[in-house]
Amino acid sequence: MSRAVSQQADEQWFTSLDPRTAEVIGKHRVHSPIEVRAAVTRARTASLWWGGLDHAERKRRLDAWRALVLRRLDDIVELVCAETGKPLDDARLELVLVVDHLHWAARNAEKVLRRRRVSPGKLMFNQAATVEYLPMGVVGVIGPWNYPAFTPMGSIAYALAAGNAVVFKPSELTPGVGEWLASTFAEVVPEHPVLTVVTGFGATGAALCRSGVDKVAFTGSTATGKRVMAACAESLTPVLVECGGKDPLIVDSDADLEAAAEAAVWGAMSNAGQTCVGVERVYVVDSVADRFTELVVRRARKLKPGGQPTAHLGPITMPEQVGIIRSHIADALDKGGRALVGGLDSVRPPYVEPVVLADVPEDSAAITEETFGPTLTINRVSTVDEAVELANATRYGLGATVFSRSRGPELARRLRCGMVSVNGVVSFAGIASLPFGGVGDSGFGRIHGADGLREFARPQSVTRRRFWAPLQPNTFARANGTLRRLVRLTRLLYRR
Ligand code: NDP
Repeated sequence: MSRAVSQQADEQWFTSLDPRTAEVIGKHRVHSPIEVRAAVTRARTASLWWGGLDHAERKRRLDAWRALVLRRLDDIVELVCAETGKPLDDARLELVLVVDHLHWAARNAEKVLRRRRVSPGKLMFNQAATVEYLPMGVVGVIGPWNYPAFTPMGSIAYALAAGNAVVFKPSELTPGVGEWLASTFAEVVPEHPVLTVVTGFGATGAALCRSGVDKVAFTGSTATGKRVMAACAESLTPVLVECGGKDPLIVDSDADLEAAAEAAVWGAMSNAGQTCVGVERVYVVDSVADRFTELVVRRARKLKPGGQPTAHLGPITMPEQVGIIRSHIADALDKGGRALVGGLDSVRPPYVEPVVLADVPEDSAAITEETFGPTLTINRVSTVDEAVELANATRYGLGATVFSRSRGPELARRLRCGMVSVNGVVSFAGIASLPFGGVGDSGFGRIHGADGLREFARPQSVTRRRFWAPLQPNTFARANGTLRRLVRLTRLLYRR
């Protein structure tokens, strides 16, 4: 990605643009590696203070932030629309999810992370064992542009609730949203820079990986995820990697076809298809394929992209993505796929009109690579088992959707991915208590829910001797025959 860069004295600046009009929205610093390191040093001091507060006080501050975000919702919605070009309602939905997750993380942090007793086991019955999830220190968050508030907040809200300071590097396409989040947080936590934003390009993100943070939470493409992991490996910095997907939607013979078609179209086309857990591929059982396809086509034909706030879908935010979308459509058609809605002519930068392709060979890029545009493939299968097999035949494994009246949870369990919605689409993203993340090229680690809080915590095990046990193996002063008696006891306890 490249943006206009300017030099002022020895500082570099870049602009963020409205992808609908190319109008300049804001000017932001290109932070150098030295500045990133300085931000992390300041965050380190802040983390000692923030991590030293009790859960109740952190909850009070996070609740105040949530209330402030809600009061200024129109401002942040407008900024998200301006930097991404997405329609008003898409941005509203994104911010509703932000507020919901912020609420859940603040409310549940103490319950999930506080010290709790665990059983010491039969051999160590004289011990009182506890585990507590303590803050890690400073968490570096690197975010994408497609959901510039919701996606990074899946890490930021949970890392803050777990008692960490955060240094956030937003995408170069959406730096204003990142700065808005940090400045509103500073209004409710003015004492220390607990949430800081550093802006710039890939090099600024790379510098954050090498800045001495205690963990990096990355969301973005698989290719960049690998670079982030390699940079973090140099200092053994732990990473959480949330990458792209090629999410399938399976339609079983007993599915509610109207609902499945609506889910397929909304899942594929909303946010102009720029959703990591968006629907990209449909596998529909032969017996219902004609009817389902007809319902999808009818719906997709009605959708129009545009720059007005009420458009069904906005522009392709990242100009470079347009070429990828075009190449996937061309490849599918070259290999024998059929265009049921739109085609190559649908690509009119910065907009792409909905494209529905059928009978697309499984080795086409439109089936194997993340398209990230308002496109959908529909392939027929003779049985739902074949649908599961094809759905799993991908190196990605983020989300999936299953429409089936009788076998939803059973089919879901057979899918190799992190999240499944049954008889609904992308529903898991809106349930704050559900962990969010993938397998394979979709990454690893989890944001959201209790797992998401623990991702940003350091489990500490403490065990306290309550009394002396008759057998003392951990001392040179142990009595002769102690270990013989211990082995006899172990046999007695664990023989079957
Ligand atoms: P990129 O991988 O291009 O960028 C992601 C972030 O990484 C940006 O902030 C980027 O900065 C930064 N970055 C780029 N190079 C480096 C580097 N060498 N070291 C450290 N950071 C770097 O992804 P996009 O922004 O294009 O986002 C789209 C991708 O994100 C899609 O693949 C999508 O599926 C995925 N995604 C995954 C989600 C999930 O939760 N699984 C959710 C949302 C999106 P800059 O922008 O300045 O280049």
